[in-house]
Amino acid sequence: MRGFELYDATTVKEAVDLLGKYSGRTVKVVGGGSDIVGGVMKDWVQGKGMPLPEVLIDITTIKDIVGIKTDGGGTTIGAATTLSDIIDNKDLVSKLPVLTNAALSVASPLIRNFGTLGGNINQRPRCWFFRGEDFNCYKKGGDFCYAVTGDNRYHAIIGGELCYIVHPSDTSTALLALNASAKIAGTGGERTVAFDDYFTGPRVDVLRENVLKPNEFMTHVTIPNPASGTKFGWTKLKDRQVYDFALISVAAVFTVSGGNWQDGRITVGGVSPVPYRAKVVEDFLKGKDIKATAKQAAAQIRTVARPMSLNSYKVDLAQGLIERTILDALG
Ligand SMILES: Cc1cc2nc3c(=O)[nH]c(=O)nc-3n(C[C@H](O)[C@H](O)[C@H](O)COP(=O)(O)OP(=O)(O)OC[C@H]3O[C@@H](n4cnc5c(N)ncnc54)[C@H](O)[C@@H]3O)c2cc1C
Ligand code: SF4
Repeated sequence: MRGFELYDATTVKEAVDLLGKYSGRTVKVVGGGSDIVGGVMKDWVQGKGMPLPEVLIDITTIKDIVGIKTDGGGTTIGAATTLSDIIDNKDLVSKLPVLTNAALSVASPLIRNFGTLGGNINQRPRCWFFRGEDFNCYKKGGDFCYAVTGDNRYHAIIGGELCYIVHPSDTSTALLALNASAKIAGTGGERTVAFDDYFTGPRVDVLRENVLKPNEFMTHVTIPNPASGTKFGWTKLKDRQVYDFALISVAAVFTVSGGNWQDGRITVGGVSPVPYRAKVVEDFLKGKDIKATAKQAAAQIRTVARPMSLNSYKVDLAQGLIERTILDALG
């Protein structure tokens, strides 16, 4: 591992000032460091799209962005809050169980104890060519996608073009279903971006996965209070029954009136370069009897899926898991 400079910021302003001060060098914020220090810098994954950071700014030392607040307006979670603190929070268990369950399905207890929400949402993809040192693919600034001709069994089945990663973050799939927003701070000021617009695909810029500029970082995630009686579902299917990334995950958050779908969101992880909102499924369910329609609604995912040479099995899994998650949420 190459050496790096480390600065502990104690306020958001201090972190922003440091981002500005070192903007001529490769500077990144660090949460728990489980990916950026333990993975990226150890694995020597380098290239234009994955430069080895020279300066790290620790943001877990900023008290204002650690912790969870719930009130009449909704829930605010500091980006430097650990996944374990999210799992253990009683308010979240009762108000937003889909987030608790998604966080609980991430990695191992050890990683969840120091891995942060911001780190989980903003972690870089896990494509094995991207993480391997011998493959200078598009995402690293090269001129080829090795997944097109290589082993693509874990890659995208929806929305992949140019690059076929699947977004690795479980909490992002749940937060998209909860209609969350990201608060962002940077040298240009503060802004709020809905999760619907936060994640960006390879056609926007193959070198990144979200709207963050190099001099910005996420400070908080806000989640509106769900309507009373909202149903929640979370299912994650993994290849190995130990800690593992999602083959497919599904989050369902919806309201029901007399057994019929009123309003809500179905989101799917493990299928696309961004956490995927399955509007085709939501639209099909609108106003209909959920129990009677769930199977047909889940099958709508086939209309948008474009599997690669080795991953058409994921289309079947996604369809089955969407149906199961909707019915589980219904109870
Ligand atoms: C063995 C293993 C298994 C895993 N399994 C899963 C899994 O099943 N599901 C899953 O979702 N994840 C999984 N992960 C990923 C793990 O959850 C993340 O590594 C962790 O959540 C990242 O948190 P961190 O705080 O340590 O991030 P860091 O390593 O500190 O940061 C990760 C990235 O995010 C950026 N970043 C951090 N905080 C912010 C912020 N506030 N604003 C902007 N950018 C930021 C950093 O610059 C860096 O690029 C796994 C990781 C490992 C090592
Ligand atoms: S899927 Fe993306 S990250 Fe993986 S090899 Fe292709 S371009 Fe690189």
